[in-house]
Amino acid sequence: MDSISNIVSSQKTFFNSQKTKSVTSRLVYLNALKNEILSKEHAIYEALYKDFKKSEFETFISEFGLVISQLNLVIKNLNKWAKPQQVKSSILTFPSKDYIYKEPYGNVLVISPWNYPFLLALEPLIMAVAAGNTVVLKPSELTKHTSQILTDIIKTVFPEDYITSVQGDAHVATELLSQKWGYIFFTGSVSVGKIVAEAAAKHLTPVTLELGGKSPCIIDDTANLKLTAKRLVWGKFFNAGQTCIAPDYVIIKRHIKKEFIELLKEEITQFYGENPKESIDYPRIINTKNTLCLAKMLKDNHVIFGGTIDETDNYVAPTLIDEPALDSEVMRSEIFGPILPILTYDTEKDIESIITNFEKPLALYTFSSNKTFINHILNTYSFGGGVVNDVLIHFSNHRLPFGGVGTSGMGVYHGKHGFDTFSHDKSVIKRGTWLDPTTRYAPYKQNFGFIKKLFNFFS
Ligand code: NAD
Repeated sequence: MDSISNIVSSQKTFFNSQKTKSVTSRLVYLNALKNEILSKEHAIYEALYKDFKKSEFETFISEFGLVISQLNLVIKNLNKWAKPQQVKSSILTFPSKDYIYKEPYGNVLVISPWNYPFLLALEPLIMAVAAGNTVVLKPSELTKHTSQILTDIIKTVFPEDYITSVQGDAHVATELLSQKWGYIFFTGSVSVGKIVAEAAAKHLTPVTLELGGKSPCIIDDTANLKLTAKRLVWGKFFNAGQTCIAPDYVIIKRHIKKEFIELLKEEITQFYGENPKESIDYPRIINTKNTLCLAKMLKDNHVIFGGTIDETDNYVAPTLIDEPALDSEVMRSEIFGPILPILTYDTEKDIESIITNFEKPLALYTFSSNKTFINHILNTYSFGGGVVNDVLIHFSNHRLPFGGVGTSGMGVYHGKHGFDTFSHDKSVIKRGTWLDPTTRYAPYKQNFGFIKKLFNFFS
């Protein structure tokens, strides 16, 4: 493998050759990428299983299937998206035709995390390619098998000076960040997000940060409790809770808590059996370090279900905790594992005093059939995105921009929003020459009154 500075410099040369500007050529590569991924479907499932025992089903619906559907969407729409878009011209520039050109930023760096290692590496990469950029991908070092298959796929489809995958840990990422990029797209933790933002600021490089946070799930006493329990158990324990938009904790109206906990227990057992360790559908925690962190979160808390941990197998059972203190370990940071704390409220003020303890979350979920309550929650709190009466599913609609706010991130992607993220909107006016009113030219005095009227009339 070439040194990082050689890779970056050869990608700059490739971009400057203008080869990425051809939409036809981008489509050839995106089709080749799709075919290569389809041909490796089973190897991809195997890689994710080896990395953290993720089931084929979960890999398909949350990674493989989404990557293929993003590719299909781009392949179908790219000609339309990439075309200069004509907008209405202003009377002040008449005669003219006004356009927005979609211009690639140039050399893009994508740094991705381990929790959805296939999707979160490829989705930004696909959109960056679609928009006409070169890409260096740095996949996570914690999912070795998936990172290897990603690297193999990219190597088969693209020349290295166009798109390449550079594997490695924080040291490699640091070296990559020391280079000058046209755009940086980072998905990962808030702490590393700050390092990325600082590195980007040195060169004034635009950056998207897809980060995390503590995403609340609020349940009032008009919610359909059985359905709420089923949907919540699905979204919380999917990927063993290692999902950036997983409901982090529940805030439920006090008098329905007891009944709801019983429903949660029933659903967990229904999904994963009496011993979830034996369920083929229940993944493992990514490594021992994270398993031990989760074990620490359980200490000094009232575990009301689950709580079993086997660090030799990176297993943490689906676990419920009753009323942890807001300053306890489990409530101090994003849980990112299969532990669900359950807090209660009596009044809307109680909800506020819990939520405002934390930074703006990446997601917020409300279960209720009371429209006034739902609207109050949606209008009061700032969050990246969310769902009423379900969890996670806003991620799957490519028409909805996906991203955080405040410390949960900046910038959005998914579908056309992703293509736009990797494109600079270049405004261009093509001026007509057949008419040239003299009103803007000096000497100004004679035209001032008329110009004032014109501005007042058209503004
Ligand atoms: P992480 O921040 O530890 O690592 C992410 C990437 O950054 C990895 O490729 C890693 O090698 C690299 N990295 C690590 N240290 C670095 C450094 N000092 N400088 C530069 N790069 C460095 O995150 P993670 O543990 O892989 O993922 C978990 C976090 O990601 C959670 O907080 C989760 O909420 C968040 N996340 C967010 C989204 C989203 O879409 N918003 C999606 C998935 C995960």
